[in-house]
Amino acid sequence: MIVVADIVLDKVSKRFPDGTMAVRDVDLEIADGEFVILVGPSGCGKSTTLNMIAGLEDISSGELRIAGERVNDKAPRDRDIAMVFQSYALYPNMSVRENMAFPLRLAKLDKETINTKVEEAAKVLELTPLLDRRPANLSGGQRQRVAMGRAIVRQPKAFLMDEPLSNLDAKLRVQMRTVVSRLQKQLGTTTVYVTHDQTEAMTLGDRVVIMRGGAVQQVGPPQELYDHPRNLFVAGFIGSPSMNFLHAAVEEGRLRTALGDVPVGDRVRRQLSGADAPRELILGVRPEHFEDAALIDDETRRRGLEFEAPVEIVESMGSDKYVYFTVEGERASAAELEELAADAGADFTGAGASLVTRLSAESPVREGESRRIWFNLDKIHLFDPATGRNLT
Ligand code: ATP
Repeated sequence: MIVVADIVLDKVSKRFPDGTMAVRDVDLEIADGEFVILVGPSGCGKSTTLNMIAGLEDISSGELRIAGERVNDKAPRDRDIAMVFQSYALYPNMSVRENMAFPLRLAKLDKETINTKVEEAAKVLELTPLLDRRPANLSGGQRQRVAMGRAIVRQPKAFLMDEPLSNLDAKLRVQMRTVVSRLQKQLGTTTVYVTHDQTEAMTLGDRVVIMRGGAVQQVGPPQELYDHPRNLFVAGFIGSPSMNFLHAAVEEGRLRTALGDVPVGDRVRRQLSGADAPRELILGVRPEHFEDAALIDDETRRRGLEFEAPVEIVESMGSDKYVYFTVEGERASAAELEELAADAGADFTGAGASLVTRLSAESPVREGESRRIWFNLDKIHLFDPATGRNLT
C-alpha cells in the first residue's frame, strides 16, 4: 500500500481566545516521507503549529491539507497521524507488549495481526527482549522507545513529535537521536518534530523550520541555514557556540571593526550606496572561522584578516580549543538588535566583551598572553541592524 502523506500549511494562523497570536501566516510544504524539524525559542509557536497539524488545536485562518485533502475540520482520530510527546504516558500495569498493542486493540484488529505488528515494531526499536517487562523496570530511553513503538504499530500517515527526548539525560538524548533518525529512514514516514534544541534540529532533519514570534524565519536543509542564515536571528540561533556579532562602521568602502578594517565585496557595496543605506552594519563571524595565525599557511592567510588580542580563557575540548579573547569596540547601537540576539541566545561583542573562537588543538595559546589570530573573510556575514537582514 502506498501512503502519500504530504502536509501543506497554507497561510495558517492561530489566535487564542485571549487575543494571543501564537502562529502567523505559516506557509510550509512538507513532502511525503520527509523529516522536518520545527525549532525556535520558547513561545515561538512550534507546539501550537504541531497541535494544529494533529487537530488538537483549531486553525484560526488558513488551510491545512494532508495528502491533498483539506483537513481543517477533521477530528484528530480521523487524520491518521500518531503523536509522540515528551512524557511517554505508558500504562504502568501493562507489559511493553500490551502497551504497544493497545492502539491496535482499540482499532479492533485481530489478535494475530496485533501480535505480528507489535513484534515487527519491537524488532525495529530493539525492544524484543523487553516485551514482557513492565514500564517501571525500564530505563528512560527504553520507555521512550516503547512510546515510539506504540506510535509506529499503527502505521500512520505521519508522526508528530513534540520534544520527545527532552526528559532524557544528555547522553541518552544523543543515543536516542540516532534511534529516531534510523527509525524515520527505515519507515520513510512523514515526520514533523518539535524541539527548542538547535543541535537536535541540525542533526536530525532533512529540513529545518526556524520560528520566532509565531512566524517562520527560514526553512532549509541544516547546512544551508548554517552557511546562509537569512537574518541575524537565524545566524545567532544556529551554531554552538553562537556566531560572534560586532559593530561595524561603514567608511568609504570599508568597514571599521574591532577586528580591523574589513573590505567590502561588490554585492554588499551596492547595498551600501543610496541615501537611506545603513551607516553601520553588524559583522558576524562564527567561532570556527578563526585560527591561530601562527598555524596557517600563506595561501590561507591571504583569504583572511589578522588581529592581536589578549587571551581571557582557554577551554581544551580535546579535538580543538575554545579560546575567549577580549576585544575593544563599540556595542551595536540598535536596541532591537540586542533583543534579537538575546532571543537567539547570542551576544553582541562590545567593549570588554569576549570574542569566542574555536582554534586547533595544536595552538599553544595561553591564558593571559596576547596572541595573533586570523579569521576567514570568505565566511563572514554582514547584517543590516535596522532589519536584521543578511546582506552577504
Ligand atoms: P515551548 O518551547 O515553550 O513549548 P512553543 O514554541 O511550543 O514554546 P507554543 O506553546 O506554541 O510555543 O506557544 C506559542 C505562544 O502562544 C506563546 O506565546 C504562548 O504563551 C501562547 N499560548 C499557548 N497556548 C495558549 C493558550 N491556550 N491561550 C493563550 N495563549 C497561548
